[in-house]
Amino acid sequence: MSLHRHHSNRDATIQDAAFDGGLGSIPRHKLPQRTSDAHAALEFVRDELMLDGNARQNLATFVTTWMEPQAVELIQESLEKNIIDKDEYPQSAEIERRCVNILANLWHAPEPTGGADAVGCSTTGSSEAAMLAGMALKWRWRARRAAAGLDATKPNLVMGANVQVCWEKFARYWDVEARLIPLDGATHLTPAQAAAACDENTIGVVAVLGSTFDGSYEPVAQIAAALDALAASTGLDVPLHVDAASGGFIAPFLDQDLLWDFRLDRVKSINSSGHKYGLVYPGVGWVLWRSAEDLPEDLIFSVDYLGGSMPTFALNFSRPAAQVIAQYYTLVRYGFEGYRSIQQRSRDIAGAIAKGVADLGLFTLLSRGEELPVLAFSVSAPNGWSVYDLSHELRSFGWIVPAYPMPEGMAEIDVLRVVVRNGFTFDLAGMFLADLGKSVERLNGKVPDKVAFHH
Ligand SMILES: *Cc1c(COP(=O)(O)O)cnc(C)c1O
Repeated sequence: MSLHRHHSNRDATIQDAAFDGGLGSIPRHKLPQRTSDAHAALEFVRDELMLDGNARQNLATFVTTWMEPQAVELIQESLEKNIIDKDEYPQSAEIERRCVNILANLWHAPEPTGGADAVGCSTTGSSEAAMLAGMALKWRWRARRAAAGLDATKPNLVMGANVQVCWEKFARYWDVEARLIPLDGATHLTPAQAAAACDENTIGVVAVLGSTFDGSYEPVAQIAAALDALAASTGLDVPLHVDAASGGFIAPFLDQDLLWDFRLDRVKSINSSGHKYGLVYPGVGWVLWRSAEDLPEDLIFSVDYLGGSMPTFALNFSRPAAQVIAQYYTLVRYGFEGYRSIQQRSRDIAGAIAKGVADLGLFTLLSRGEELPVLAFSVSAPNGWSVYDLSHELRSFGWIVPAYPMPEGMAEIDVLRVVVRNGFTFDLAGMFLADLGKSVERLNGKVPDKVAFHH
């Protein structure tokens, strides 16, 4: 029996499907010829998705896995809105503008003259934001070179080997040399390394707040100071971009005295992921520039807006407005105090997990959740199993904890990383630690010398 005949009775449809294979016979990689019943199609796709991991036990991702029902309601009500249709959805455009201004204020951008808006926009995430910020750096560098009558064909971007892959992508897609500095004595870029790697073809330096590898903050103020000193001694005036994908929504609330943002003159642009510690479901990101001067005008296009035109800078044309609206909701809903307490709790939970891990006496902690609410740890001494085995073992309890080698310069060290996000609780942390202990016991029960004993 074919499914498309059963439009009215959901149960009959599903039963028929069970009998004759119905949806089971739907081709997976070709458009089915026939229409399916909506309920049956829903169940079919939903069942497939059951195989995905449980988001609450996913300690791998930085991306938001829980939002309040009110936010979900707002997202559902906004699903049809396209952020590029400024004419049709002027209030969504206004909301995006407000978010940019709120972030500019949070990141201490200088007030634009004449009460104008801060310079920035929403993106799909930090990756798109990195493309836009990187292009602005490249365009500015090229203009400087052209004005001086110098060659502008060999641009490079200086960054630590620990940068997120989006920066390697930027370099490859926009034909810029990725000058990746191997780690040397720290888990991230050091000020001396950053300055030493710059030359006349350097379009900028990227500092990360904080690193995806271990959650540590790069010393942005010290990197800025090293670049200031470089400018003073050589005349090389290299702009600094801060990739605050995660830290942009942590440091303003938990580390107010830390200088990492537009308070440093050398910082010309900052990106952050609204869908990480900005507490919004994927995908929304933000990129802001210090001033209009730092965003070359020929990168900006205009779209129609209520009979006038509005400047836009984006890779995509159409994109959902819902995530931007959800970002505005979280900013209004939580306010400074709400963000502060949510991020502090994540940091406290990460600290408690770090302590539990340290207490097992088997691991070396590279970070303890004191910067991003993230901890990374390696096995202290050879014991017959690796972090990869442990990651696999934890998976059998439902926990998703990635294991990977550190970047060049520390590549001999393999780590496990735990990311704590809003929605994770002390109770879940306790269960995780118990399962970590059991996983270690299981692995110790499997060490090769015991296996060898039976031969
Ligand atoms: C996650 C992350 C990115 C990429 O951000 P998306 O929002 O996933 O595109 C870039 N840089 C850092 C430091 C990150 O943590």
